[in-house]
Amino acid sequence: MEQIKIFSPATVANLSCGFDVLGCCLDNVGDEMTIRQNDLNQVRITKITGQDLPLEADKNVAGVAVKALLAAVGSLKGFDIEIDKKIKAGSGIGSSAASAAGAVFGVNKILGDPFSNMELIPFAMEGERLASGNAHADNVAPALLGGFSLVRSYEPLEVLKLPTPEELRVVVLHPLIEIKTKDSRSILRQSVSLKKAISQWGNLGALVSALYTENYGLLGRSLQDNIVEPVRSILIPYFDELKKIAVENGALGFGISGSGPSVYGMCRGDKNAEKVRTAIRDFYKSKDIDFELHLSEINKEGIKILS
Ligand code: ADP
Repeated sequence: MEQIKIFSPATVANLSCGFDVLGCCLDNVGDEMTIRQNDLNQVRITKITGQDLPLEADKNVAGVAVKALLAAVGSLKGFDIEIDKKIKAGSGIGSSAASAAGAVFGVNKILGDPFSNMELIPFAMEGERLASGNAHADNVAPALLGGFSLVRSYEPLEVLKLPTPEELRVVVLHPLIEIKTKDSRSILRQSVSLKKAISQWGNLGALVSALYTENYGLLGRSLQDNIVEPVRSILIPYFDELKKIAVENGALGFGISGSGPSVYGMCRGDKNAEKVRTAIRDFYKSKDIDFELHLSEINKEGIKILS
């Protein structure tokens, strides 16, 4: 195989109580990438459509992630990478992660699969280090593994794939304002009260249990964040109103996606997700902010091969 075309999905990281450790994979929102081997022994970003992003391999998360993979296998092979960006950078739905994860997935396939998708996570994380200064895994892991994933530990890295209850749907609102991950991290407090920590790990444990037992009620009660959301939500226009609307219309939970500005509503079933999407759209249409709105199933597979 010399060339591969893939769909690399958007992801919702944090999921309220799982700040920096939890994420899930979306099904119908993502970038398309074409990766082919070249004879130049160089990693090149040959084309980017849909967004203005660096073509220089060392400044693009895709290039950095692929170089980390090639260094690990000791390969001198070169690759050309084309990216059709459908996820805007700085959206909070894993734009940089989609490019980094997609690039290492594609190169790994062309090399004959020396790594499992789980083993590709650390290379994709190098792309995240470039994007935000922090090699986090909560977007690249669900992009590579599909479904829900939990980062138990960073040193050593241990990532778990969690089950996906069938009826879950995600509504994502992306207000078209840019919040850099770096900026939204810098406003976070560095210490947490014991009381808040207790409520957070209670919710996170319960959420994991709810995923295993398909207990939608418990899942909804657990999607709470008493630590990060109160600080970060001030960066998101009309966050409190949106949350109220989503919950009133039956969403199981509502919170910030990644570092924002996107927000997500977790819903049970298509009918409820449609209702939540319509209510959010009607509310935001009356405001002076452009937005994108997505409704997606949870993608259990992760990155998909298109050709
Ligand atoms: P997101 O949470 O949507 O990934 P980040 O703020 O974490 O947003 O990352 C976006 C940053 O990464 C931007 O500064 C962007 O220029 C940089 N970047 C470099 N390469 C890419 C790429 N291929 N796709 C998206 N962002 C990239």
